[in-house]
Amino acid sequence: SPENQKQEKIEALELGADDYINYPIDPEELRAIVTMRLNKFREFYLMSVTDDLTRLYNRKEFIKKFNEEVAHFPEGTISLAIIDIDHFKGVNDIYGHVTGDLVLMKLAELMQERTCSNFSPARFGGEEFVILMPGLNMNSGKAMIEGLLNEFSSIPFKVKDKKFNVTFSAGISEYPLLSNNLSELLSRADQALYAAKEDGRSRVYIFSSTMVRNDKFWQYMTSKKTVFINSQFQDTTTRLPYLPLVLEQIINLTYEVKSLGVLLLDTTFVKKAEEMMNYKNIHYDIKN
Ligand code: GH3
Ligand code: MG
Ligand code: MG
Repeated sequence: SPENQKQEKIEALELGADDYINYPIDPEELRAIVTMRLNKFREFYLMSVTDDLTRLYNRKEFIKKFNEEVAHFPEGTISLAIIDIDHFKGVNDIYGHVTGDLVLMKLAELMQERTCSNFSPARFGGEEFVILMPGLNMNSGKAMIEGLLNEFSSIPFKVKDKKFNVTFSAGISEYPLLSNNLSELLSRADQALYAAKEDGRSRVYIFSSTMVRNDKFWQYMTSKKTVFINSQFQDTTTRLPYLPLVLEQIINLTYEVKSLGVLLLDTTFVKKAEEMMNYKNIHYDIKN
């Protein structure tokens, strides 16, 4: 616009314009200004979605990537891995924090190099990473992460004349087989990771229902003598005892009930009715 339109210029900037360029303008100059603006924008954008140390996506961006993937391919399979470096506190304590940082950067670099372009590795915090692997089921996801573990654990790190290797443990879950919501998928991958740590570290585990950590419930079940009450009143469709009637029955018992537990089985993703009848492949949650 011509130079004398001061009010217009102020209005444009107030409306959110990045700049106000006076007419006539040289095409070269315009190109330089636009390129500079775009580069600045990209730089700020990358800063807001990545982690400073590793340059991997941060947690917020990872969640966004997952939601985008699901929105584009609602029927698609996605494997999700949580990776946690083994005895990393020890690495810091023995070789120093700067070396610890180098180990984190090296793992991040390897995750970027080794994984396909549609995979999204991210740093979830500290020495914990996640990878979203669209198109891979959990077995292929496991093989992929085992390859990464092999490569990572054979890197010879060196501080002065001391050489050492670092390993990680990982847990895998799969969308939508195990769950169709991210927090549950993460929790399952995390439970598999916990099992991998428990079994000695430096391994990759796929989630299985035996890994469900419902410690309080199982501790109670194994330590106390428990009476299961089965009502003769059954729900007409499932033929299972109908909860309100079971409770009513308990109220009318001749002996005192000091505590009462309810086990809710939430069955998800039961593909075929026959499978259900055979009690096979039923994935379940046990909620306190
Ligand atoms: P485990 O095998 O059970 O995972 O043991 P661990 O020592 O790896 O686990 P723990 O959670 O006890 O320790 C994690 C350590 O990671 C503690 C913390 O100081 C370190 N850490 C977290 N973020 C960073 C970082 O950005 N740089 C460095 N150098 N260390 C970090
Ligand atoms: Mg950790
Ligand atoms: Mg760790």
